[in-house]
Amino acid sequence: MSSQSSSITSLIDTFPGGVTSSDERKGENEAFFRELNERLKQRAAEKQAASDAFEIVCECSLETCTQRLSVTFAEYESVREDETRFVVAVGHADPRIERIVSATVGYDVVEKLGVAAEVAAERDPRDD
Ligand SMILES: [Zn+2]
Repeated sequence: MSSQSSSITSLIDTFPGGVTSSDERKGENEAFFRELNERLKQRAAEKQAASDAFEIVCECSLETCTQRLSVTFAEYESVREDETRFVVAVGHADPRIERIVSATVGYDVVEKLGVAAEVAAERDPRDD
């Protein structure tokens, strides 16, 4: 277990939690992991190049999922340009609230639909 992994776990522990199956809650869950990944990325970016990979946490709607994914800074940035897009592990997309817009070997990029998209846009940490 690397020190980065244990610090990710401690960040995840800050998630307020609460279990419900509503689309709004799913959107909230994904927004939380996006905020977490923004922090991980900022920390990792200080000493690496755009083509380097770093570790993020799956941004799917499952509240119990903390799967680690490896993405490059360039790939991560291209997803973050759209406030309704998220990075999830292969097979973790929920077709009721999102659709897959691109698939790679290690992860899928999904785009939120309906209420989940509205929540995602509201909670965009880059929206100032
Ligand atoms: Zn997941």
